[in-house]
Amino acid sequence: MRDALQVLNRVFGYDSFRGSQQEIINHVVGGGDALVLMPTGGGKSLCYQIPALVRPGVGVVISPLIALMQDQVDALTALGVRAGFLNSTQDAPARREVESAFLSGDLDLLYLAPEGLSTGSALRLLERGKISLFAIDEAHCVSQWGHDFRPDYLALSVLHERWPDVPRIALTATATAATSREIAIRLKLTEARQFVSSFDRPNIQYRIVPKADPRKQLLELLRVEHPGDAGIVYCLSRASVEKTADFLVANDIPALPYHAGLDARTRAANQSRFLREDGLVMVATIAFGMGIDKPDVRFVAHLDLPKSVEGYYQETGRAGRDGQPSNAWLAYGLQDVVQQRKMIETSEGDLAHRRGLAAHLDAMLALCETVECRRVQLLAYFGQQSAPCGNCDTCLNPPQSWDGTVPAQKLLSTVLRLQRERNQKFGAGQSIDILLGRKTEKVVQHRHDELTVFGIGGDLGESEWRGVVRQLLAQGLLAVEGDYGTLVLTEGSTSVLGRQRQVMMRREPERAARSSGSSKK
Ligand code: ADP
Ligand code: ZN
Repeated sequence: MRDALQVLNRVFGYDSFRGSQQEIINHVVGGGDALVLMPTGGGKSLCYQIPALVRPGVGVVISPLIALMQDQVDALTALGVRAGFLNSTQDAPARREVESAFLSGDLDLLYLAPEGLSTGSALRLLERGKISLFAIDEAHCVSQWGHDFRPDYLALSVLHERWPDVPRIALTATATAATSREIAIRLKLTEARQFVSSFDRPNIQYRIVPKADPRKQLLELLRVEHPGDAGIVYCLSRASVEKTADFLVANDIPALPYHAGLDARTRAANQSRFLREDGLVMVATIAFGMGIDKPDVRFVAHLDLPKSVEGYYQETGRAGRDGQPSNAWLAYGLQDVVQQRKMIETSEGDLAHRRGLAAHLDAMLALCETVECRRVQLLAYFGQQSAPCGNCDTCLNPPQSWDGTVPAQKLLSTVLRLQRERNQKFGAGQSIDILLGRKTEKVVQHRHDELTVFGIGGDLGESEWRGVVRQLLAQGLLAVEGDYGTLVLTEGSTSVLGRQRQVMMRREPERAARSSGSSKK
């Protein structure tokens, strides 16, 4: 048997193992099952590639990333590793060639798409060869709550039943306690040894800023901090991907769009340009990025609020794989909360499913509104304790927290009065106009200037009032409903109005407030 360290040096050209790679590799080489939780860029691939080279037989890698299999196999072939793949994109002769190489033992690694395994023919093929290990990559795809759920992953529990003596290693960068438990149960890996790496990515600076004019804010970020850098910009919708990419190009920043509405050829071409050329900005929906290994992504920017902390952490984790300083930048505003709550309300699925989505969103909102270190909060979400990092916006430029109980009461009582005295519901804009005492057409038309709350909010400005609404929504003390994002009271609102509850809020630090103000002009 070859020695793992030798393979690392001679085949991959690296001097030493990173983090827990060596422990994991030893365990799998010895025939043990493993569940590996390691952040994106942590070095998961070697954890199964090296055991596959050390153990006799072919290592079978289950991966959902069909579009990347060719690249992965090419990269391994260039290192002298005998690798092949089987998926739906191949023609029959190409398949036959890989199948016979597998059967004669002339492969070190075979990449398989999960859908192949539910058909049965792939299983029959596997039964005729000699297998060194099964690697289940992106194992969180088995989680029904996650955003990457692939039904075909559920069938992978069959591997354990048919090949009880072949070690299995499942790997993922998604790692809340709940997800890892679900992976272990569904893949029958409850007896497997778990390897949990630190999820910290110290070279990434996390920043979350109030959204004013997001494209202009992005442009300023790119011009000031990232001239000539490669990066990824995530947007929620296809339309906004297209608009943002056009906007950047019009401003002399080389950008490409990527979303599921583009045809496969364009997607593949844009992806490969992003990987191969320097300094391109990929503007994408979350359809882009899984498995992308580009070391010098200097920033990941979100123009819309991600749906969960897990998604956010995976997406931002694509920055700075080379260990160099990188930025994770997110612009977040009231409209995001309104939009996402509405999407949850109208989503298919039962009540439990919607509650799950709402809980994910709440955790994301709490991260946005925290006055503490972002990294401490992120790592705590993954069950890991840490000290303030000194490399996030709240550490570098601490926001203050302030007692927002009185403004909260003013806002909630405006909503209450519209509802009780007028039997009306309005969006945030109308309540803010009322509080600020603005006699707009809509205020006059509805005689809202006759309400007792009219003009009682002059002590705060419009953007501060929007902050109040956002934070009340984030804390569940106010809710939105319907197509127009109308505000409605919650059970929590009552305790604020009844003065049983204090409401602490985040005040944006001076610098952030000023720069978002100037970008509006
Ligand atoms: P993951 O799958 O966890 O996101 P990868 O396996 O793609 O991460 O590894 C990320 C990068 O780190 C790759 O470029 C890989 O070649 C490099 N890498 C992994 N392990 C080592 C090591 N022991 N020494 C140096 N570089 C490594
Ligand atoms: Zn910090």
